[in-house]
Amino acid sequence: EKITLSLGENSYDILLESGCLDRAGELLNLNRKVLVVTDSGVPAEYADTVAFSALAAEIVRIPRGEASKNFDHFHLLLRRMLEFGMGRGDCVAAVGGGVVGDLAGFAAACYMRGIDFYNIPTTVLSQVDSSIGGKTAIDLDGFKNIVGAFHQPRRVLVDPRTLSTLPRRQVANGLAEAVKMALCFDAEGFARYETADMDKELSSLSAGQPVPMLERVILDALRTKKNVVEQDEKEHGLRRVLNFGHTLGHGIESLHEENGLLHGECVALGMLPMCSSAVRERLLPVLERLGLPVTCSADPERVMQAVVHDKKLYAGKVHTIFVDEVGSFTERDLSPEELKSLYQQYFFASQ
Ligand code: NAD
Ligand code: ZN
Repeated sequence: EKITLSLGENSYDILLESGCLDRAGELLNLNRKVLVVTDSGVPAEYADTVAFSALAAEIVRIPRGEASKNFDHFHLLLRRMLEFGMGRGDCVAAVGGGVVGDLAGFAAACYMRGIDFYNIPTTVLSQVDSSIGGKTAIDLDGFKNIVGAFHQPRRVLVDPRTLSTLPRRQVANGLAEAVKMALCFDAEGFARYETADMDKELSSLSAGQPVPMLERVILDALRTKKNVVEQDEKEHGLRRVLNFGHTLGHGIESLHEENGLLHGECVALGMLPMCSSAVRERLLPVLERLGLPVTCSADPERVMQAVVHDKKLYAGKVHTIFVDEVGSFTERDLSPEELKSLYQQYFFASQ
């Protein structure tokens, strides 16, 4: 399946195809110097496959984890590009999850004011979300994605086969973002999560067997993200809807050192108080069947502190997205008190 993002001269294709990683040499222009960026948690053969197909390649393997998305590794990549003698016509290829993609993409955006970038996402989260749309960034002083640039890739290769090695918790974590997109934009897509036997599908995945439903929901999410990005490349409006679940989600995530939750898991929790009860009744079993959390004990006071800290308040209000009906959304500006009470009512009063 080929999805084309039409963004004028920044247009590019996303190829969703089982086994496409093995065809990187024909699908990407690697007939030049290629800096292949990956991390220590990604099976080495994925990056090797890309490097072997290149005219000349250097592989940089950063330590796994969000902490690597920092200035030191950004510096390291730029220095390696310089030492490798890369010029304007050469390229960077990311092989890994969102951490690798965001960091490598930002380095590609900055080196010589921007060189070609290919993304080969290998987590569900990066396949459905972070590899599309051209947002690149690193973290600084505890602020996530605070330094970055828009730099669209030249092509994205989504190979579901690479997911067979991904831990199940990471699979569900990424699907939380896909469920988010379906809830806001795609009622038909959401229904697939209700009818599909995701459990069976996830077992097939780790056994290396075909996963038609998983591929289907990845495709749904890619199409949704394509439409949103095409309408709002630089996030002036519509693209903000993708922050559904992220306002409270970020607040919960700020306490991750205590609760151990991953980003997508926090988004799953953050969506629940922002739905009508009818929508929530459908969302709950979907999240539960994926193995995502549905209860949260994070202290409301501290969650709200983090929300107010990282969301800019507009006239004392927080911009939030609500889903009153599956497949559509509404925007509401809430005071921090109103948001806190929604959170409290849902997680602390209803049980
Ligand atoms: P990640 O990149 O840290 O990957 C998760 C873990 O899975 C890592 O330990 C990694 O080593 C491992 N891994 C990756 N591929 C694997 C595979 N095929 N088999 C086995 N293990 C594998 O996390 P993520 O969830 O992919 O991405 C999170 C990042 O994405 C965050 O930094 C977030 O800010 C960013 N993000 C960016 C955007 C955007 O638009 N640019 C959107 C959403 C999130
Ligand atoms: Zn997210």
